[in-house]
Amino acid sequence: MIYIFFLLFILGTCLGSFISCVAYRYKLGISIIYPRSFCDNCSQTLQHWQLIPITGFILQKGKCHFCKQKIPLSSTVIELAIGVIFIFNTIIIANTNLIFTSLLVVWLTLISLEDYYTLSVDSITLEYGGLILLIFRFHTVITNLKANFLIIILFIIILISCNLLNKFGTADTILIVFSFLLLGF
Ligand SMILES: [Zn+2]
Repeated sequence: MIYIFFLLFILGTCLGSFISCVAYRYKLGISIIYPRSFCDNCSQTLQHWQLIPITGFILQKGKCHFCKQKIPLSSTVIELAIGVIFIFNTIIIANTNLIFTSLLVVWLTLISLEDYYTLSVDSITLEYGGLILLIFRFHTVITNLKANFLIIILFIIILISCNLLNKFGTADTILIVFSFLLLGF
C-alpha cells in the first residue's frame, strides 16, 4: 500500500508541476510546449534535473543554479499540495471515484491559478477540462439531468441572467454549470 501512496504522491507532484507551468505560461501568453522551461531572471533553459518536482527546488536550495536568484516557492507548494491531496483522496474516496476526484482537484487548481495570475481563465482549460470530467461522470450527469430537468433549466436561466447583468463573469457561469452537472446541487 505504501508503494501505491508513493506512486500517487509522485503522480500528484508531476501534475502539480505541469499545471503550475501551464498557468504561468498562460500568464506570459506563451505556448505550453515551446520554449523549454527557463529561469525567469536569467532566461537560461533549465536542465532536466532542475525540473524534477520538489527535488529540483531542494537540490538548488531554492535558488537558480545559474544566476542564484531566489526561485518562487509557489510551484513547489502546489506540487507538494497536489501530491498530498492525491494520497488523502485515496484514503477517503472510494476507488470508483478516485480518477474523477483527482482530475477535479487538478482542474480546479489550474483554473484558480490562471484566475489568480490574470483575473481570467483560458477557455480551453475551462471547457475541455469540464467536458473530460463530464465524460468520467457520464452516468451521474444523465441521472441528475433526468431527475431534475426543470430545476436545471430554471437554474441555467438564472445563471445566464446573472451573467448578462454582470453579477458573474462568463467563466464563473460556465464553471458553476459544470460543477452543478458534475456534483449536483
Ligand atoms: Zn537564473
